[in-house]
Amino acid sequence: MGELDGRVALVTGGSRGIGRAICLELAARGAKVGVNYNTGAAAAESVVAAITAAGGEAFAIPGDVANPEAAAALVKGVVDRFGGLDILVNNAGITRDGLLMRMSEADWDAVHNTNLRGAFLVTKAAMRPMLRARGGRIINISSVVGVMGNAGQANYAAAKAGLIGFTRAVAREVASRAITVNAIAPGFIKTDITANLTEAQVEAVLRQVPLERLAEAEEVAPLVAFLAGPGAAYITGQCIHVDGGMVMA
Ligand code: NAP
Repeated sequence: MGELDGRVALVTGGSRGIGRAICLELAARGAKVGVNYNTGAAAAESVVAAITAAGGEAFAIPGDVANPEAAAALVKGVVDRFGGLDILVNNAGITRDGLLMRMSEADWDAVHNTNLRGAFLVTKAAMRPMLRARGGRIINISSVVGVMGNAGQANYAAAKAGLIGFTRAVAREVASRAITVNAIAPGFIKTDITANLTEAQVEAVLRQVPLERLAEAEEVAPLVAFLAGPGAAYITGQCIHVDGGMVMA
């Protein structure tokens, strides 16, 4: 028996990296999981297979979070399959790095559409089932970059900072309905997003990390499970860092 037994979760971008680890962690604690992906069906199916093999329940659900119809269909798909929605993890994210002077409008828009507009659309769709359930947990995956900034990531930093403001505004709107909304700000985590950092870039990052290493995706997931669980019922509107000490506040 797990502390999330009977709970239903939707994890956007659950097919790879941090999202994959979150799906596995929530399922290991008893939640039924909708594993969202955009293009990588095989990766999402492998997450479902791992959960099923461990005795859990999950299914893969495609959909571009930045598309309003797809975002609504995502939530509906999970509710139709599992009978409700208790936990939403807005994790889907992309980067399109470049210095501001050379940043195209397309790269600005793409990053905002997935990282910020996507969270808005899926959260909006999730409100109805959570209000019906008289409670819910929403966890938004922001970034340390949204707090500190990072040269070459003006689009991403702005979207991730926006996600923290979104978290706090929505937390205030829905608190009276026993729905909590929190953000997590990971530091530098070993996933496809950070795989193409050069050795020099990694060294520069490590100089800012008191714990002197990058993290594994599995080191973010336990905090998501905690925020989704019974021990976090009185925590809302927070942005919690999992960054090896990069930001201490
Ligand atoms: P990742 O390995 O590149 O995985 C990204 C996931 O998002 C994939 O499952 C991808 O699915 C999905 N996705 C992308 N665009 C989507 C869309 N429009 N609709 C639905 N799903 C979409 O990334 P990650 O490193 O695990 O990052 C996960 C989250 O953590 C992101 O929000 C990222 O900004 C944040 N974060 C990461 C780090 C880090 O160091 N890695 C640090 C701080 C914050 P497909 O493959 O199907 O496209």
